Amino acid sequence: MARTRIKCASCGGRIHDHEPDLILRDLENGGRPRYFHTRCGEAAYTAVTENPSAYLLTVRHVEEVAN
Ligand SMILES: [Zn+2]
Repeated sequence: MARTRIKCASCGGRIHDHEPDLILRDLENGGRPRYFHTRCGEAAYTAVTENPSAYLLTVRHVEEVAN
């Protein structure tokens, strides 16, 4: 598996490939993405809500049927 290991910025745990995740890009920090479990994403949502122009939040869903 050559995939990059992704860690949750909230709990520090691994986010597995088959799990959906949240990608939070901090546009004021060079757009560095941070990743969250969907279950840990509340902090990310809060940050976006408070400062929507500074963050870009992407939710990646895992499709049941891969193309
Ligand atoms: Zn987490």
